[in-house]
Amino acid sequence: MKNPVLEKFFTYDINKNSSKCNVVGCTKYISGKHASNLEKHIFALHKNECKDLTEAKLSKSGARIDNVQLHDKAMVSND
Ligand SMILES: [Zn+2]
Repeated sequence: MKNPVLEKFFTYDINKNSSKCNVVGCTKYISGKHASNLEKHIFALHKNECKDLTEAKLSKSGARIDNVQLHDKAMVSND
């Protein structure tokens, strides 16, 4: 499942292999584009955006994030 954190809050620069935070007033670059690293930054420094992200993920999946990930894994192993 695609995590919207990159497209919502970052611009990935393939030449630098880093993701620039697009939150107003923030100029931070995160190495690479791993959603967990990006989320960690949003969670630590941008509480409002973090809330938006959580809501975006919930409205997309229609379920708790934990459950969706477990469900995806179950689907793969049943195949
Ligand atoms: Zn930031």
